[in-house]
Amino acid sequence: MEAEKKKTPKAIIVGGSIAGLSCAHALISTGWEVTVIEKSISPPSGSPTGAGLSLEPQAREVINRWLGDPSILHDITLPLTIELHQAVDKEKKTSRLLLRDDNFTYRCAHWTDLHSVIYKALMPDTVLWGHRFLSLCISNDKASVVVKLEVLQTNEIKEVVADLLVAADGSLSMIRHNFIPDHKLRYSGYSAWRGVFDFEEDERSDVILGIKKAYPELGNCLYFDYANGNHCVLFELRKKRLNWIWYFDAPEPNREGSSVTQKVSNDMINAMHKEANKIWNPELAMLMKETKEPFINVIYDSDPPPQLCWDNVVLVGDAGHPTTPHASRSTNMSILDAEVLGLCIKKWGPENLAKALQEFQAVRHPVVSEQVLCSRRMGLLKQGLPISDDDKVFDPCTADTDDCWVIQHRNIPFYECVPTSI
Ligand SMILES: Cc1cc2nc3c(=O)[nH]c(=O)nc-3n(C[C@H](O)[C@H](O)[C@H](O)COP(=O)(O)OP(=O)(O)OC[C@H]3O[C@@H](n4cnc5c(N)ncnc54)[C@H](O)[C@@H]3O)c2cc1C
Repeated sequence: MEAEKKKTPKAIIVGGSIAGLSCAHALISTGWEVTVIEKSISPPSGSPTGAGLSLEPQAREVINRWLGDPSILHDITLPLTIELHQAVDKEKKTSRLLLRDDNFTYRCAHWTDLHSVIYKALMPDTVLWGHRFLSLCISNDKASVVVKLEVLQTNEIKEVVADLLVAADGSLSMIRHNFIPDHKLRYSGYSAWRGVFDFEEDERSDVILGIKKAYPELGNCLYFDYANGNHCVLFELRKKRLNWIWYFDAPEPNREGSSVTQKVSNDMINAMHKEANKIWNPELAMLMKETKEPFINVIYDSDPPPQLCWDNVVLVGDAGHPTTPHASRSTNMSILDAEVLGLCIKKWGPENLAKALQEFQAVRHPVVSEQVLCSRRMGLLKQGLPISDDDKVFDPCTADTDDCWVIQHRNIPFYECVPTSI
């Protein structure tokens, strides 16, 4: 019985993206045995599987602890020491400074690079690629959970038993749907063209010389350009790449399958190039035109769910709190979810899992709820959409610095420090 009591606790994590791999690190470091189930056949690689993201200091400190060597994260990121917002005059193609923060403390990475370093710091057999989660069943005594999964290459159906199930299966989470079927994603009112321009081969091209002249602080600045109903985010990534995201107001498109990335045709890309010439300054429009394989992200979030845990199942990352990307929330929230989950489980021990998950819920639910709603408000303002019927909309042509404080990263709740305990 003594041996039975001391058996290594086991967790199944569904989803091998940032939230899932982060939870794997957090749980393994508290002595748990962890298996990650991921439906993608292999680890992602190359540009088409992602674009740029930015990391706050607290999330970086957590990742550095998992990686064991701060130079690993440092080497795949560039500093963002300036946050700069400017209004673009569509007719004259000039920019007017709205707000500048010279004490910004984020660093940016390509999604694939971040995923790769977090993945490579795990034992290779931690992740089962090409395994699709199908269903779950919690035991009557709530002590274990049986997970049914499909091995995609052989169509074999398997069952695995664990003490804890971590749902890191993204914004369209099947596991969240299992517990709260009425909880729906909410279309934001806008989508985003995204792209990464690679200039490693030609650093002196007209595109690069032009964009670096128009945006001289690329390399350590997070630029936001606003034109009515549109805003664009621009920053440089390691390995000579420029990341841009152009948010545009639009009716909700038909979403195919289980992706929030929309398939784009050549006609759509050509139309985007024409529209870019009308709205943005020539250097930015040229960058968009010369970027290979731009894609569209349809922007969703959801109202914060009523809870994040049920018995021995916990929702983390976008599965727990789908969010719009403003204020760089989704990746940072995923990493802090993992950190807090690890701390709660360490504090209470595997024998008190219910208490650990209660504490996780108490620490994380208020924080992520406030941040999701703040990011929603920021997105609506930036896109010139009303927040409520009687609200005045944000107009970049007439806005002054006072109007802009709500769109500044520094003013998101818990900007300085996200609590990791009650
Ligand atoms: C390929 C990819 C590229 C991305 N690129 C960017 C980027 O460039 N910039 C940015 O800010 N954000 C990007 N994101 C989103 C970002 O990772 C998330 O918003 C945030 O980090 C939260 O991550 P997550 O792990 O909760 O969710 P997600 O990143 O959405 O991951 C969910 C994972 O669960 C897996 N999954 C879903 N259902 C099942 C199932 N039934 N069985 C097994 N596995 C399942 C999915 O395949 C996916 O890997 C990307 C996500 C993905 C998947």
